[in-house]
Amino acid sequence: MSKRLIEFRNVSFRYGEEQPWVLKNVSFEIYEDEWVAIIGHNGSGKSTIAKLVNGLLFPQQGEIVIDGQLVNEESIWNIRKEVGMVFQNPDNQFVGATVQDDVAFGMENRGFPREDMVKRIDETLKAVGMQAYRLTEPHRLSGGQKQRVAIASVLAISPKVLILDEATAMLDPNGRKEIMETVSQLQNSQGLSLITITHDLHEVVQADRVIVMNEGEIWDEATPREIFSKKDELRKIGLDVPFVAILADELKQVGITISQEPLN
Ligand code: ADP
Repeated sequence: MSKRLIEFRNVSFRYGEEQPWVLKNVSFEIYEDEWVAIIGHNGSGKSTIAKLVNGLLFPQQGEIVIDGQLVNEESIWNIRKEVGMVFQNPDNQFVGATVQDDVAFGMENRGFPREDMVKRIDETLKAVGMQAYRLTEPHRLSGGQKQRVAIASVLAISPKVLILDEATAMLDPNGRKEIMETVSQLQNSQGLSLITITHDLHEVVQADRVIVMNEGEIWDEATPREIFSKKDELRKIGLDVPFVAILADELKQVGITISQEPLN
């Protein structure tokens, strides 16, 4: 049985006392080696969940436990070391003059020994397929390549949880494909929980589990296959099931499978 890394217990959150609740009684668990996609239309509360995991926000009600530690003002510095985040805009995430400087930056801040840093730069750039670009200046990279470096920079500090918050939203289709391939290669890498946040159902196909958010509540939590089977209900909450999933399902009903396991 995998270890439980994230637990939300009846979490409610609002951005101020006069503001509406944007998360209402949200409970879920995420295990190590698991890839969980959080999906929902704009404003459904996905990014707020990411910020609560990272301790950028604290819930007014309920509890969050990360790797056995209750998230509060005291534990948050420890917890932040365990949670890596990659955001939407690839251009806002670069701090180094070259790719390798960028990956080194987070490690330098945390006082990693020099020999370790060289090894970790190699390993993490390899993990995202960017080892040939060590000395490249960031502005020469495509959007997808920049996001892969952003993922490497976060992986370098060995987080237990990696959150990609709409990390493909500003990329072209090639860039999106690159990132989803990178993420699927990281899936089940030892001890890492992956959370991808998206409003695009195409991006949940390979996840182990999908949490669907609607109006600040968990609308459903199931495998991608189970989620896709609810295409009419999904449409009512503003989510479109990818055409290929509908086609695969319809073909299956007439006895044709397009691959052994078209969806999880
Ligand atoms: P999503 O990531 O699903 O688009 P968010 O978690 O960003 O949703 O937002 C959930 C709700 O919280 C939305 O109604 C949004 O307008 C509101 N919200 C987000 N950030 C703030 C903020 N800083 N101040 C006030 N309201 C906010």
